[in-house]
Amino acid sequence: MIRKWGLCRLLFSGLLFGMWISFVWANESLFNRKIAESEFVQELFSFVKQNEEAIIAEWRRLTEIPAPSGYEEKRAQYMKSQFETLGLDEISIDQAGNVIGIWRGTDGGKKIVLSAHMDTVFQGVNKIHVKREGNVLIAPGIGDDTASLINLIWSLRAFKKVGFKPKNTYYFLATVGEETGFDGMRVFMDSVDQDFTHIIALDGDLGKVHYGALGFGGGKITFRGPGAHTMQSRGVPNPNLAVAKAIDRICQIDLPSMPIEKWTILNVGMIMGGKVRNAVSQESSFTIDLRSGDQEEIGEAQKKIREICGDVASETGVMLEIQFDDRSKAFQIPGARDSALVQTVVDVLEYLEVIDIEVDPLGSTEANVGIERGILSVNLGRTYGRYKHSLREEADIDGLFLAMKQIMLLICCLE
Ligand SMILES: [Zn+2]
Repeated sequence: MIRKWGLCRLLFSGLLFGMWISFVWANESLFNRKIAESEFVQELFSFVKQNEEAIIAEWRRLTEIPAPSGYEEKRAQYMKSQFETLGLDEISIDQAGNVIGIWRGTDGGKKIVLSAHMDTVFQGVNKIHVKREGNVLIAPGIGDDTASLINLIWSLRAFKKVGFKPKNTYYFLATVGEETGFDGMRVFMDSVDQDFTHIIALDGDLGKVHYGALGFGGGKITFRGPGAHTMQSRGVPNPNLAVAKAIDRICQIDLPSMPIEKWTILNVGMIMGGKVRNAVSQESSFTIDLRSGDQEEIGEAQKKIREICGDVASETGVMLEIQFDDRSKAFQIPGARDSALVQTVVDVLEYLEVIDIEVDPLGSTEANVGIERGILSVNLGRTYGRYKHSLREEADIDGLFLAMKQIMLLICCLE
């Protein structure tokens, strides 16, 4: 009996040890120099090298198809036709307008979404001409996020060219409405009944990796009073005074900068109030941009802002209205920084000697939609660039090829 119990204990501790080992393994980087230096990966890289001019030409063509948020149909048709030509297994455009191309793997593989957004912020810009200056392309939307769409198309082209047969199933996804709040990705995630392993969103500068969702909790504070001519203003409640007092106190709120998961910041970007210089304002207001990696910290800061504004309103005798926008919540997945996915991404970037690697949990891309749902997700950069969201947006050509290598090598490591 005793010996049997001893055997059980041995088996049990063996089982625990096994679980511990598999836990450690699950969190180890999947990057391996052998993969990176393999003939297969070198073939992928040299395919990109051989096609550099064709890639640039297609990048220019796609950028010149205007696609402000809400008007992505033409780009969607283009992406769909590329997915069809490349022979993905199932191709569709969903009710939101997202283009979905599924590349089926073998049973038991991971289910990975690779996304890039089709929309741009340039409402009303109907004629786009891409200019080239050396290693830089210039046009609205050239980087954000057309460079990522080109990354998707050409990584896929390279994989097809070398005869890749994936183990994982990949959802190539070109989304709509990213710039208006990840609208397309939300529709996709709500309508596709799949337990995705990861969402990998392509957006932002090369080298930047975000594994958490930055939350937004700012809004608008408005003070109102009866108003009066300056000559009759003695003792009349003054909304401008309330604004001044409130901003002064709000800017003194102590916000955490560490740990990085709780990093929080606020800014008063706009002040509005009064119509003429010889009257007391009847209505004055200001905006608050409040951001944090932690939803509780957003709640804390909002509570302090409410208290301050309440105090100020009663001190100055004005009416108070507070509007907070809580649509984009902060979300963190415990252990995400040490996960196999994030470590693999970092190892891939280091191997490729990408400069200025930054890994933080303060992302504001489509990956957030996965993170909110508890799916380990990251965003990866598409190239280097400047003047984003401006008509003279710039994107780096060599940076695009490097970003493409990043994506292809990551896929090989995740297989
Ligand atoms: Zn973007």
